[in-house]
Amino acid sequence: MIGNAEVKKIVEGYDQKKLAIGTLGSHSSLNIFKGAKEEGFRTVCLCKEKDAIMYHKYPLVDDLIIVKDFTELLSEKMQERLRKLNVILIPHGSFTAYLRTEELTDSLMVPMFGNRQLLHWEANRKSQEEWLRQAGLRLPATFKTPEDIDRLVIAKLPGAKGGRGYFLAHSPKTFHKKFGELVKRGMLKEDDLSGIHLQEYALGVNVYPSYFSSILQDDVELLAMDRRYESAVDSIGKIPAAEQLEIDVNPTYTVVGNFPMVARESLLPELMSMGDNVHKKARELAPPGIIGPFCLETVITDELKIFTFEISARIVAGTNVGIGTSPYAYLKYGENMYMGRRIALEIKQATSQNRLLEVVA
Ligand code: AMP
Ligand code: AMP
Repeated sequence: MIGNAEVKKIVEGYDQKKLAIGTLGSHSSLNIFKGAKEEGFRTVCLCKEKDAIMYHKYPLVDDLIIVKDFTELLSEKMQERLRKLNVILIPHGSFTAYLRTEELTDSLMVPMFGNRQLLHWEANRKSQEEWLRQAGLRLPATFKTPEDIDRLVIAKLPGAKGGRGYFLAHSPKTFHKKFGELVKRGMLKEDDLSGIHLQEYALGVNVYPSYFSSILQDDVELLAMDRRYESAVDSIGKIPAAEQLEIDVNPTYTVVGNFPMVARESLLPELMSMGDNVHKKARELAPPGIIGPFCLETVITDELKIFTFEISARIVAGTNVGIGTSPYAYLKYGENMYMGRRIALEIKQATSQNRLLEVVA
């Protein structure tokens, strides 16, 4: 694990008047780069050749570094180059999707905005659950083995893969049947079985509140909210029930995009307290707690019970719906505040208050 002392040394070697904000070219990079530009930072993007078009059409990047693969971020040469550019990295979903947690915590000698230690809490389902439960959140029940299934469950593969390969089952028998089908279709592998996480299916609508934990302001801000557009699950309703039965359709959850949303106002006090409590608990587990953006993935039932099934302790792509302004960011900041900009603002203020080391790890 890269420690505070090592990061401190790098940051102290930086020209803090010329800090750059860097990230991988995908997921929420446009959100992050736009925010960085609006707060006056240089921007650095590691990007695959095929994706470079995005940064030509939206010219938000000062240094576009073409890579064959995102793992090039781990090479000593690349890291040296980023350090020379005074880069603060902003981790997003592609970091955890394409790099291993240990690589992020142990091999990335470039300062990152956020709390590196929390990556371990987030990456492991068991510790993540412990964290959320101890924060007083309501979680769906989990089942140790397929043989224990006694109600509708959602079977999940480890790692955030946009819900690809998730499936539903309501008994040990339906579980094994569906698992077998997905293996046959090449969506799962036989040895995925041991890593599958079985969670009670919470019947309700998905709500993804996004928060920003500000170390400087000592506050957790509710800044955005979205819901996802998932294929194929969001399209199944377009097929009449009789055909659904005939083709024995299996809902999958590959995320294609997101919709902005606002919650019924009476839900806000609970959603806000949940954000506060998750940060408070994180502060005990890994001081100083969450630094910057995080998102709770929830399902809200018809009894208005809020079930949390996951946390992302980083910017989520759902905040892209707020590029420009989200209603919640507007309530606190007025126009033109959004997650990417909020990150840049925190870094800018930390730098001017000589507190940069408190927000990077
Ligand atoms: P990508 O770079 O698009 O492959 O995304 C990296 C990770 O973030 C994957 O696990 C995706 O499923 C997830 N992801 C990407 N875009 C979104 C989105 N709009 N909403 C939710 N998750 C996303
Ligand atoms: P995830 O990859 O964990 O974000 O989950 C992908 C999708 O699966 C979510 O957006 C939900 O639609 C669905 N989902 C995950 N867990 C549950 C749950 N416990 N109950 C109901 N739906 C869920």
